[in-house]
Amino acid sequence: MILISEALKIIKRESFALPTETVELENAVGRILAEEVRADMDLPPFDRSQMDGFAVKTNDTQNVPVKLKIIGESVAGKGFDGEIKTGEAVRIMTGARVPKGADSVQKVELTNEDNGFIEILEPTKLQQNINLHASEIEKGALIFEKGEIITEQMIAATASFGYAKIQVFQKPKVAILSTGSEIVNIDETPDKDQIRNSNSIMLKAFAEKLKLDAEVLPLVHDDFETLKTTIAEAVGFESKVQSPKSKVDVPKSKIQNLKSKILILTGGVSVGDYDFTKPALRELGAKIFFEKVSLKPGKPTVFAKLNDVLIFGLPGNPVSVAVTFALFTRTAILQMQSAKTSELKKGCAVCADKLKGAKERDCYLPVSLSTDENGQLIIESLRFSGSSNFIAFSRADALVFIPQGKNLEKGGVAEILYL
Ligand code: AMP
Ligand code: MG
Repeated sequence: MILISEALKIIKRESFALPTETVELENAVGRILAEEVRADMDLPPFDRSQMDGFAVKTNDTQNVPVKLKIIGESVAGKGFDGEIKTGEAVRIMTGARVPKGADSVQKVELTNEDNGFIEILEPTKLQQNINLHASEIEKGALIFEKGEIITEQMIAATASFGYAKIQVFQKPKVAILSTGSEIVNIDETPDKDQIRNSNSIMLKAFAEKLKLDAEVLPLVHDDFETLKTTIAEAVGFESKVQSPKSKVDVPKSKIQNLKSKILILTGGVSVGDYDFTKPALRELGAKIFFEKVSLKPGKPTVFAKLNDVLIFGLPGNPVSVAVTFALFTRTAILQMQSAKTSELKKGCAVCADKLKGAKERDCYLPVSLSTDENGQLIIESLRFSGSSNFIAFSRADALVFIPQGKNLEKGGVAEILYL
Protein backbone atom coordinates (compact mmCIF):
# COMPACT_ATOMS: atom_id res chain seq x y z
CA MET A 1 0.00 0.00 0.00
CA ILE A 2 1.43 3.41 -0.95
CA LEU A 3 0.70 6.89 0.34
CA ILE A 4 -1.50 9.28 -1.65
CA SER A 5 1.50 11.58 -2.07
CA GLU A 6 3.55 8.75 -3.57
CA ALA A 7 0.70 7.79 -5.88
CA LEU A 8 0.49 11.38 -7.10
CA LYS A 9 4.23 11.52 -7.66
CA ILE A 10 4.04 8.40 -9.85
CA ILE A 11 1.03 9.71 -11.77
CA LYS A 12 2.78 13.00 -12.47
CA ARG A 13 5.92 11.22 -13.58
CA GLU A 14 4.04 8.93 -15.98
CA SER A 15 1.70 11.58 -17.41
CA PHE A 16 3.55 12.36 -20.61
CA ALA A 17 3.15 15.87 -22.00
CA LEU A 18 0.98 16.27 -25.08
CA PRO A 19 1.87 18.61 -27.96
CA THR A 20 0.23 21.96 -28.54
CA GLU A 21 -2.51 23.01 -30.93
CA THR A 22 -4.19 26.26 -31.91
CA VAL A 23 -7.85 26.82 -31.12
CA GLU A 24 -10.32 29.64 -31.63
CA LEU A 25 -10.54 31.79 -28.49
CA GLU A 26 -14.26 31.05 -28.34
CA ASN A 27 -13.43 27.38 -27.77
CA ALA A 28 -10.57 27.99 -25.33
CA VAL A 29 -12.30 27.99 -21.95
CA GLY A 30 -11.03 25.11 -19.81
CA ARG A 31 -7.97 24.56 -22.01
CA ILE A 32 -4.39 25.04 -20.80
CA LEU A 33 -2.36 27.93 -22.20
CA ALA A 34 0.64 26.86 -24.26
CA GLU A 35 1.77 30.43 -24.86
CA GLU A 36 2.06 33.57 -22.80
CA VAL A 37 -0.62 36.18 -23.24
CA ARG A 38 0.98 39.63 -23.48
CA ALA A 39 -0.45 43.08 -24.02
CA ASP A 40 0.04 44.11 -27.67
CA MET A 41 -0.91 47.70 -26.86
CA ASP A 42 -1.11 50.16 -23.97
CA LEU A 43 -4.41 50.22 -22.14
CA PRO A 44 -6.05 52.61 -22.19
CA PRO A 45 -4.39 53.50 -25.50
CA PHE A 46 -4.99 57.22 -24.75
CA ASP A 47 -6.16 59.37 -21.83
CA ARG A 48 -9.79 58.25 -21.68
CA SER A 49 -12.81 59.95 -20.18
CA GLN A 50 -14.68 58.02 -17.48
CA MET A 51 -17.75 60.24 -17.77
CA ASP A 52 -20.09 61.97 -20.15
CA GLY A 53 -19.27 65.65 -19.56
CA PHE A 54 -16.76 68.33 -20.52
CA ALA A 55 -13.01 68.15 -20.88
CA VAL A 56 -11.48 71.26 -19.33
CA LYS A 57 -8.31 72.85 -18.02
CA THR A 58 -8.39 72.29 -14.24
CA ASN A 59 -7.01 75.78 -13.65
CA ASP A 60 -10.06 77.28 -15.38
CA THR A 61 -12.52 75.67 -12.93
CA GLN A 62 -11.12 76.75 -9.58
CA ASN A 63 -13.48 79.76 -9.23
CA VAL A 64 -16.99 78.52 -9.97
CA PRO A 65 -19.37 79.03 -11.52
CA VAL A 66 -17.36 79.70 -14.65
CA LYS A 67 -18.43 79.80 -18.29
CA LEU A 68 -16.22 78.10 -20.90
CA LYS A 69 -16.61 78.13 -24.67
CA ILE A 70 -17.50 74.75 -26.23
CA ILE A 71 -15.08 74.30 -29.14
CA GLY A 72 -15.97 70.77 -30.25
CA GLU A 73 -16.75 67.26 -29.16
CA SER A 74 -14.89 64.04 -28.51
CA VAL A 75 -16.89 60.86 -28.89
CA ALA A 76 -15.91 57.22 -28.42
CA GLY A 77 -14.24 56.14 -31.65
CA LYS A 78 -13.67 59.71 -32.90
CA GLY A 79 -11.72 62.02 -30.65
CA PHE A 80 -11.27 65.78 -30.91
CA ASP A 81 -8.00 66.48 -32.67
CA GLY A 82 -7.54 70.13 -31.75
CA GLU A 83 -6.14 71.53 -28.54
CA ILE A 84 -8.14 73.37 -25.91
CA LYS A 85 -6.87 76.64 -24.53
CA THR A 86 -7.74 78.67 -21.46
CA GLY A 87 -11.46 79.50 -21.37
CA GLU A 88 -12.41 76.56 -23.60
CA ALA A 89 -14.04 73.15 -23.13
CA VAL A 90 -14.80 70.09 -25.28
CA ARG A 91 -17.94 68.03 -24.91
CA ILE A 92 -16.80 64.48 -24.19
CA MET A 93 -18.42 61.05 -23.92
CA THR A 94 -17.49 58.10 -21.74
CA GLY A 95 -14.66 56.15 -23.38
CA ALA A 96 -13.62 59.02 -25.65
CA ARG A 97 -10.10 60.47 -25.95
CA VAL A 98 -9.38 63.48 -23.73
CA PRO A 99 -8.20 66.27 -26.08
CA LYS A 100 -4.80 67.91 -25.93
CA GLY A 101 -4.66 70.74 -23.40
CA ALA A 102 -7.41 69.27 -21.14
CA ASP A 103 -6.41 67.76 -17.81
CA SER A 104 -9.76 66.97 -16.17
CA VAL A 105 -13.37 66.15 -17.03
CA GLN A 106 -16.42 67.55 -15.30
CA LYS A 107 -19.49 65.35 -15.47
CA VAL A 108 -22.49 66.67 -17.32
CA GLU A 109 -24.65 66.66 -14.17
CA LEU A 110 -22.42 69.42 -12.69
CA THR A 111 -22.73 71.73 -15.69
CA ASN A 112 -25.29 73.98 -17.41
CA GLU A 113 -25.19 74.46 -21.16
CA ASP A 114 -26.08 77.83 -22.61
CA ASN A 115 -25.80 78.86 -26.23
CA GLY A 116 -22.35 77.52 -27.14
CA PHE A 117 -21.00 77.92 -23.63
CA ILE A 118 -20.84 75.53 -20.71
CA GLU A 119 -21.15 76.69 -17.14
CA ILE A 120 -19.02 74.55 -14.78
CA LEU A 121 -20.70 74.42 -11.36
CA GLU A 122 -18.03 72.67 -9.29
CA PRO A 123 -14.24 72.86 -9.47
CA THR A 124 -12.41 69.85 -10.91
CA LYS A 125 -9.26 68.26 -9.60
CA LEU A 126 -6.27 67.42 -11.78
CA GLN A 127 -6.95 64.22 -13.81
CA GLN A 128 -10.46 63.93 -12.40
CA ASN A 129 -12.59 61.41 -14.36
CA ILE A 130 -9.68 60.46 -16.62
CA ASN A 131 -8.18 56.98 -17.02
CA LEU A 132 -4.61 57.86 -17.87
CA HIS A 133 -2.87 56.41 -20.92
CA ALA A 134 -1.32 52.97 -20.08
CA SER A 135 -2.55 53.14 -16.48
CA GLU A 136 -4.11 49.65 -16.75
CA ILE A 137 -1.33 47.90 -18.64
CA GLU A 138 1.69 48.76 -20.75
CA LYS A 139 2.43 47.20 -24.14
CA GLY A 140 4.48 44.01 -23.75
CA ALA A 141 3.37 43.28 -20.17
CA LEU A 142 2.68 39.65 -19.23
CA ILE A 143 -1.01 39.03 -18.65
CA PHE A 144 -1.28 35.22 -18.38
CA GLU A 145 1.39 32.57 -18.13
CA LYS A 146 1.90 29.31 -19.97
CA GLY A 147 0.21 26.49 -18.04
CA GLU A 148 -2.71 28.53 -16.73
CA ILE A 149 -6.20 27.12 -17.16
CA ILE A 150 -8.22 29.51 -19.32
CA THR A 151 -11.32 30.64 -17.45
CA GLU A 152 -14.36 32.54 -18.67
CA GLN A 153 -13.06 35.54 -16.70
CA MET A 154 -9.81 35.57 -18.71
CA ILE A 155 -11.52 35.73 -22.12
CA ALA A 156 -12.12 39.50 -22.24
CA ALA A 157 -8.49 40.30 -21.41
CA THR A 158 -7.22 37.76 -23.92
CA ALA A 159 -9.55 39.05 -26.63
CA SER A 160 -8.49 42.64 -25.96
CA PHE A 161 -4.94 41.83 -26.97
CA GLY A 162 -5.92 40.28 -30.26
CA TYR A 163 -5.74 36.56 -29.51
CA ALA A 164 -8.55 35.47 -31.85
CA LYS A 165 -6.76 32.12 -31.90
CA ILE A 166 -4.65 30.83 -29.09
CA GLN A 167 -2.13 28.07 -28.51
CA VAL A 168 -3.16 25.45 -25.98
CA PHE A 169 -1.99 21.99 -25.07
CA GLN A 170 -3.79 19.09 -26.71
CA LYS A 171 -6.16 17.33 -24.40
CA PRO A 172 -6.06 13.58 -23.81
CA LYS A 173 -8.90 11.55 -25.25
CA VAL A 174 -10.57 9.47 -22.57
CA ALA A 175 -12.33 6.12 -22.81
CA ILE A 176 -14.55 4.93 -19.98
CA LEU A 177 -15.28 1.28 -19.32
CA SER A 178 -17.50 0.12 -16.49
CA THR A 179 -17.30 -3.53 -15.58
CA GLY A 180 -19.47 -5.82 -13.48
CA SER A 181 -21.94 -8.63 -14.20
CA GLU A 182 -24.53 -6.92 -12.00
CA ILE A 183 -24.48 -3.65 -13.95
CA VAL A 184 -27.14 -2.73 -16.52
CA ASN A 185 -27.54 0.37 -18.68
CA ILE A 186 -29.47 3.29 -17.17
CA ASP A 187 -32.37 2.88 -19.58
CA GLU A 188 -32.87 -0.73 -18.49
CA THR A 189 -34.85 -2.05 -15.53
CA PRO A 190 -32.51 -3.95 -13.22
CA ASP A 191 -33.34 -7.55 -12.41
CA LYS A 192 -33.29 -8.68 -8.80
CA ASP A 193 -29.49 -8.97 -8.65
CA GLN A 194 -28.69 -5.96 -10.77
CA ILE A 195 -28.08 -2.20 -10.45
CA ARG A 196 -27.81 0.55 -13.02
CA ASN A 197 -24.51 1.85 -14.35
CA SER A 198 -24.01 5.21 -12.67
CA ASN A 199 -20.23 5.30 -13.03
CA SER A 200 -19.84 5.70 -16.78
CA ILE A 201 -22.06 8.72 -17.16
CA MET A 202 -20.63 10.33 -14.02
CA LEU A 203 -17.07 9.92 -15.30
CA LYS A 204 -18.10 11.30 -18.67
CA ALA A 205 -19.49 14.36 -16.89
CA PHE A 206 -16.28 14.83 -14.88
CA ALA A 207 -14.19 14.47 -18.06
CA GLU A 208 -16.37 16.94 -19.94
CA LYS A 209 -16.04 19.45 -17.10
CA LEU A 210 -12.33 19.35 -17.97
CA LYS A 211 -13.32 19.87 -21.64
CA LEU A 212 -12.23 16.40 -22.72
CA ASP A 213 -13.84 14.21 -25.32
CA ALA A 214 -14.89 11.11 -23.45
CA GLU A 215 -16.12 7.91 -25.04
CA VAL A 216 -18.19 5.53 -22.96
CA LEU A 217 -17.51 1.94 -24.02
CA PRO A 218 -20.20 -0.74 -23.76
CA LEU A 219 -20.45 -2.41 -20.35
CA VAL A 220 -18.36 -5.51 -19.80
CA HIS A 221 -19.37 -8.37 -17.51
CA ASP A 222 -16.99 -9.99 -15.05
CA ASP A 223 -15.57 -12.13 -17.80
CA PHE A 224 -11.82 -12.38 -18.10
CA GLU A 225 -11.57 -12.90 -21.87
CA THR A 226 -14.04 -10.18 -22.80
CA LEU A 227 -12.39 -7.74 -20.44
CA LYS A 228 -8.96 -8.50 -21.86
CA THR A 229 -10.15 -8.07 -25.43
CA THR A 230 -11.93 -4.83 -24.62
CA ILE A 231 -8.92 -3.32 -22.87
CA ALA A 232 -6.63 -4.41 -25.71
CA GLU A 233 -8.96 -2.78 -28.20
CA ALA A 234 -9.28 0.41 -26.14
CA VAL A 235 -5.51 0.89 -25.96
CA GLY A 236 -5.25 0.45 -29.71
CA PHE A 237 -3.94 -3.09 -30.15
CA GLU A 238 -5.06 -4.25 -33.53
CA SER A 239 -3.95 -7.84 -33.46
CA LYS A 240 -2.30 -10.37 -31.21
CA VAL A 241 1.07 -9.45 -32.71
CA GLN A 242 0.95 -6.08 -30.99
CA SER A 243 0.09 -7.45 -27.59
CA PRO A 244 3.43 -8.49 -26.17
CA LYS A 245 2.31 -11.11 -23.70
CA SER A 246 -1.11 -12.26 -24.59
CA LYS A 247 -2.83 -14.01 -27.41
CA VAL A 248 -5.68 -11.67 -27.86
CA ASP A 249 -7.68 -11.32 -31.03
CA VAL A 250 -9.02 -7.84 -31.26
CA PRO A 251 -11.89 -7.23 -33.63
CA LYS A 252 -11.80 -4.09 -35.74
CA SER A 253 -14.07 -1.56 -34.12
CA LYS A 254 -15.16 2.02 -34.14
CA ILE A 255 -12.80 3.05 -31.36
CA GLN A 256 -9.74 1.89 -33.23
CA ASN A 257 -9.20 5.13 -35.07
CA LEU A 258 -9.59 7.29 -32.03
CA LYS A 259 -7.11 5.74 -29.71
CA SER A 260 -7.46 7.23 -26.25
CA LYS A 261 -4.64 8.45 -24.08
CA ILE A 262 -6.43 7.58 -20.88
CA LEU A 263 -8.60 4.55 -20.16
CA ILE A 264 -10.71 4.59 -17.01
CA LEU A 265 -12.10 1.29 -15.81
CA THR A 266 -14.44 0.92 -12.88
CA GLY A 267 -15.12 -2.20 -10.81
CA GLY A 268 -13.32 -5.47 -10.51
CA VAL A 269 -10.13 -4.13 -8.94
CA SER A 270 -10.34 -5.85 -5.54
CA VAL A 271 -9.39 -9.38 -4.62
CA GLY A 272 -12.72 -11.11 -5.24
CA ASP A 273 -12.98 -14.22 -7.38
CA TYR A 274 -14.57 -12.17 -10.16
CA ASP A 275 -12.28 -9.14 -10.02
CA PHE A 276 -10.48 -9.44 -13.33
CA THR A 277 -9.08 -5.99 -14.01
CA LYS A 278 -5.58 -6.61 -12.69
CA PRO A 279 -5.22 -10.12 -14.12
CA ALA A 280 -6.37 -8.83 -17.51
CA LEU A 281 -3.92 -5.93 -17.40
CA ARG A 282 -1.10 -8.26 -16.37
CA GLU A 283 -1.80 -10.69 -19.15
CA LEU A 284 -1.82 -7.95 -21.71
CA GLY A 285 1.62 -6.88 -20.50
CA ALA A 286 0.60 -3.63 -18.82
CA LYS A 287 3.00 -2.04 -16.39
CA ILE A 288 1.17 -1.70 -13.09
CA PHE A 289 2.61 1.14 -11.01
CA PHE A 290 0.40 0.73 -7.96
CA GLU A 291 -2.68 -1.20 -6.98
CA LYS A 292 -3.32 -0.17 -3.39
CA VAL A 293 -3.36 3.33 -1.97
CA SER A 294 -3.63 4.39 1.67
CA LEU A 295 -6.88 6.18 0.91
CA LYS A 296 -10.46 5.90 2.06
CA PRO A 297 -12.51 5.66 -0.07
CA GLY A 298 -10.45 4.26 -2.95
CA LYS A 299 -7.92 1.82 -1.51
CA PRO A 300 -7.83 -0.69 -4.41
CA THR A 301 -7.14 1.97 -7.08
CA VAL A 302 -4.94 0.65 -9.89
CA PHE A 303 -2.67 2.78 -12.04
CA ALA A 304 -1.05 1.19 -15.07
CA LYS A 305 0.28 1.90 -18.55
CA LEU A 306 -0.19 -0.15 -21.69
CA ASN A 307 0.70 0.83 -25.24
CA ASP A 308 1.25 4.43 -24.08
CA VAL A 309 -2.22 4.64 -22.60
CA LEU A 310 -2.59 5.58 -18.94
CA ILE A 311 -5.02 3.19 -17.30
CA PHE A 312 -6.91 3.95 -14.11
CA GLY A 313 -8.70 1.00 -12.54
CA LEU A 314 -11.05 2.63 -10.08
CA PRO A 315 -13.06 0.76 -7.44
CA GLY A 316 -16.67 0.17 -8.45
CA ASN A 317 -18.47 2.16 -5.80
CA PRO A 318 -19.64 5.44 -7.31
CA VAL A 319 -18.32 7.56 -4.42
CA SER A 320 -14.92 5.86 -4.61
CA VAL A 321 -14.97 6.51 -8.34
CA ALA A 322 -15.69 10.20 -7.79
CA VAL A 323 -13.00 10.62 -5.15
CA THR A 324 -10.28 8.71 -6.98
CA PHE A 325 -11.07 10.46 -10.26
CA ALA A 326 -10.82 13.85 -8.51
CA LEU A 327 -7.54 13.00 -6.80
CA PHE A 328 -5.77 10.89 -9.40
CA THR A 329 -7.26 10.85 -12.90
CA ARG A 330 -7.92 14.58 -12.92
CA THR A 331 -4.29 15.17 -11.96
CA ALA A 332 -3.09 13.06 -14.88
CA ILE A 333 -5.43 14.85 -17.28
CA LEU A 334 -4.10 18.27 -16.29
CA GLN A 335 -0.50 17.11 -16.05
CA MET A 336 -0.63 15.79 -19.64
CA GLN A 337 -1.65 19.28 -20.68
CA SER A 338 1.30 20.81 -18.78
CA ALA A 339 -0.98 22.69 -16.40
CA LYS A 340 0.80 24.70 -13.70
CA THR A 341 -1.55 23.29 -11.09
CA SER A 342 -2.91 19.80 -11.54
CA GLU A 343 -4.48 19.22 -8.16
CA LEU A 344 -7.78 20.40 -6.73
CA LYS A 345 -7.85 23.82 -5.10
CA LYS A 346 -7.10 23.68 -1.38
CA GLY A 347 -8.79 25.57 1.42
CA CYS A 348 -9.67 25.21 5.06
CA ALA A 349 -12.91 25.26 7.01
CA VAL A 350 -14.34 24.51 10.43
CA CYS A 351 -16.02 21.18 11.24
CA ALA A 352 -19.66 21.42 12.30
CA ASP A 353 -19.47 17.91 13.77
CA LYS A 354 -16.94 15.30 14.69
CA LEU A 355 -15.72 13.42 11.58
CA LYS A 356 -14.25 9.98 11.99
CA GLY A 357 -11.10 9.01 10.13
CA ALA A 358 -9.67 5.57 9.39
CA LYS A 359 -7.11 3.60 11.37
CA GLU A 360 -4.78 2.71 8.56
CA ARG A 361 -5.57 5.11 5.75
CA ASP A 362 -5.86 8.81 5.04
CA CYS A 363 -9.42 9.86 4.30
CA TYR A 364 -10.80 12.23 1.72
CA LEU A 365 -14.41 12.38 2.76
CA PRO A 366 -16.98 14.16 0.58
CA VAL A 367 -18.64 16.98 2.55
CA SER A 368 -20.89 19.93 1.89
CA LEU A 369 -19.90 23.50 2.75
CA SER A 370 -21.90 26.34 4.22
CA THR A 371 -21.21 29.70 5.82
CA ASP A 372 -22.24 30.48 9.40
CA GLU A 373 -23.49 33.80 10.78
CA ASN A 374 -19.89 34.96 11.42
CA GLY A 375 -18.89 34.38 7.82
CA GLN A 376 -16.95 31.26 8.77
CA LEU A 377 -16.76 28.45 6.18
CA ILE A 378 -18.30 25.34 7.74
CA ILE A 379 -17.83 21.66 6.85
CA GLU A 380 -21.05 19.73 7.07
CA SER A 381 -21.06 15.98 7.12
CA LEU A 382 -23.05 14.25 4.40
CA ARG A 383 -23.86 11.48 6.90
CA PHE A 384 -22.35 8.81 4.75
CA SER A 385 -23.40 5.27 5.25
CA GLY A 386 -20.54 4.12 3.04
CA SER A 387 -18.79 4.64 -0.23
CA SER A 388 -21.80 3.35 -2.15
CA ASN A 389 -23.90 6.25 -0.92
CA PHE A 390 -24.11 8.31 -4.08
CA ILE A 391 -27.31 9.96 -2.88
CA ALA A 392 -25.47 11.67 -0.01
CA PHE A 393 -22.55 12.35 -2.37
CA SER A 394 -24.76 14.31 -4.73
CA ARG A 395 -24.61 17.27 -2.28
CA ALA A 396 -20.81 17.25 -1.97
CA ASP A 397 -18.90 20.52 -2.46
CA ALA A 398 -15.49 19.42 -1.26
CA LEU A 399 -13.36 16.60 0.11
CA VAL A 400 -12.17 16.96 3.69
CA PHE A 401 -8.79 15.50 4.59
CA ILE A 402 -8.62 13.32 7.69
CA PRO A 403 -5.08 12.08 8.36
CA GLN A 404 -4.60 8.38 9.02
CA GLY A 405 -5.45 7.35 12.58
CA LYS A 406 -7.10 10.69 13.42
CA ASN A 407 -10.60 12.09 13.82
CA LEU A 408 -11.65 15.68 13.22
CA GLU A 409 -13.23 17.28 16.27
CA LYS A 410 -16.26 19.55 16.23
CA GLY A 411 -15.02 23.16 15.91
CA GLY A 412 -11.61 22.08 14.60
CA VAL A 413 -10.10 23.52 11.41
CA ALA A 414 -9.57 21.04 8.57
CA GLU A 415 -8.05 21.06 5.09
CA ILE A 416 -10.48 20.76 2.20
CA LEU A 417 -10.17 20.26 -1.53
CA TYR A 418 -12.86 21.99 -3.57
CA LEU A 419 -14.62 19.70 -6.02
P1 AMP B 1 -16.41 -3.80 -7.36
O1 AMP B 1 -15.34 -2.78 -7.30
O2 AMP B 1 -16.56 -4.44 -8.67
O3 AMP B 1 -16.25 -4.79 -6.22
O4 AMP B 1 -17.77 -3.04 -7.07
C1 AMP B 1 -18.01 -2.43 -5.83
C2 AMP B 1 -19.42 -1.97 -5.73
O5 AMP B 1 -19.67 -0.96 -6.68
C3 AMP B 1 -20.44 -3.04 -6.01
O6 AMP B 1 -21.50 -2.92 -5.06
C4 AMP B 1 -20.91 -2.73 -7.37
O7 AMP B 1 -22.21 -3.19 -7.60
C5 AMP B 1 -20.80 -1.24 -7.45
N1 AMP B 1 -20.58 -0.83 -8.82
C6 AMP B 1 -19.63 -1.33 -9.63
N2 AMP B 1 -19.69 -0.78 -10.85
C7 AMP B 1 -20.71 0.11 -10.80
C8 AMP B 1 -21.28 0.99 -11.77
N3 AMP B 1 -20.79 1.08 -13.01
N4 AMP B 1 -22.32 1.76 -11.38
C9 AMP B 1 -22.80 1.67 -10.13
N5 AMP B 1 -22.30 0.87 -9.19
C10 AMP B 1 -21.29 0.07 -9.51
MG1 MG C 1 -17.53 -6.18 -9.27
